[in-house]
Amino acid sequence: MISLRFKRLKIRKNSIKISRRIIQIFAFLLINYIILETILPINLISLEGIVKVLPILNSPRNPLSNGAGILEYIFFSMGLGIFPFLLLAILILVLLFTNRVFCGWICPIGSIQDLCAAVPTKKRKFSISTHKRLLNIKYIFIIITIIIIFPLGITKNANFPFYIDFKNQLGIFADQPIGFFSLSEFIFVYFPQLFQNVFLPVQLGALEFGGWIILISYSLIIVLSFWYPRIYCRYICPFAAVSSAVTEYSFLKLARNPVKCVGRSECGICEEVCPKQIRILDEPFEFFTGKGECNLCLECKEKCPHDAVLIKFGNV
Ligand code: SF4
Ligand code: SF4
Repeated sequence: MISLRFKRLKIRKNSIKISRRIIQIFAFLLINYIILETILPINLISLEGIVKVLPILNSPRNPLSNGAGILEYIFFSMGLGIFPFLLLAILILVLLFTNRVFCGWICPIGSIQDLCAAVPTKKRKFSISTHKRLLNIKYIFIIITIIIIFPLGITKNANFPFYIDFKNQLGIFADQPIGFFSLSEFIFVYFPQLFQNVFLPVQLGALEFGGWIILISYSLIIVLSFWYPRIYCRYICPFAAVSSAVTEYSFLKLARNPVKCVGRSECGICEEVCPKQIRILDEPFEFFTGKGECNLCLECKEKCPHDAVLIKFGNV
C-alpha cells in the first residue's frame, strides 16, 4: 500500500517529464515514419502532402520531405535566387507563438540526446566562459552558410554562366548546406549509407578524409551527450542558431516568481538540472530565455522545490 502511494507520488512529481517522454517517442516515430511503418502495418505515404506543406514537421532528408527540413528549404530557395519570404514568415510565426517547444518536445535529435543523457553518468558542465565561447560555434556555421549561399542566389539572376560555375565549385554544399552541420543528417542518412557502402562490403579505404572527419566529429558529439546533455543543440545545431535569434522575443516564455524563489545560495536547483546550462538566476524575474537557448523542456519548473518557475504567454 505504502509502495503504491509512493509510486503515485513519484509519477505526479515527474508528470511533466513523463508527458514529455511520451510526446518525444510519439514524435520520433511519426517524424521518422519509416520506423513506424516497420513496426505497424500502415502506410503513411498518404500523409505526404501534409508533411510537405508543413516542412517544420520534418527532420532533414526524411524520405517524405523529399530531402529537407524547413531550414534546408530556406537555404535551398536562397541559393536559387528566390527569397524565401513565406518559409521565413512561417518559421518566425511558429517560433513567436511556440518558442522552442519543437526542440524540447519534438525534435528527434533532441530526443536521441535526451536518451543518451538518461544513461546514469556523472553529468558535467563547462566553465561559464568556455560555455559562452562554444555557443558561438553554431552562429559561425550559419553565418558562413549565409555568406556562401546568399551570393550564389544573386549570381543566378545576375550572371547565369558564373552561377553554374560557382554552384559546381560548391558541389553538394550548394543544394544541402544545412546537411553538413546536421546530426540528423549524420544519424538518419550519412551513417546508414556509410554502413551499407563501406563497412559491409569491407571497403574501409573508400572513406575519404572528409568522410572520416564527419564520422569522428559526430560520433564524438554523440559520445559527449552522455555527459553533457543536449551538447549538439547547444553548440552546433543550425536550427538552434536561427531560432534562438527569434525566441528571445517569443510570446511564450518562462518566468520566476520573486516571492517564492529563494535564489542560488539557498537553492539553485533549476540551474543544476537545466540541460542547456542556462544561468536562469542571472536573468530577470519577468522572463528568462537564456538568450533564446531555452527549449522549454520544463525540467527547471518540475524540479523547483518552491514552485517558483512559471509559464508565461504574452504579458500575462
Ligand atoms: S529551483 Fe526554484 S526556488 Fe530554487 S533557485 Fe531555482 S527558481 Fe529559485
Ligand atoms: S531553462 Fe528550464 S525549460 Fe529552459 S532549457 Fe533550461 S531547464 Fe529546460
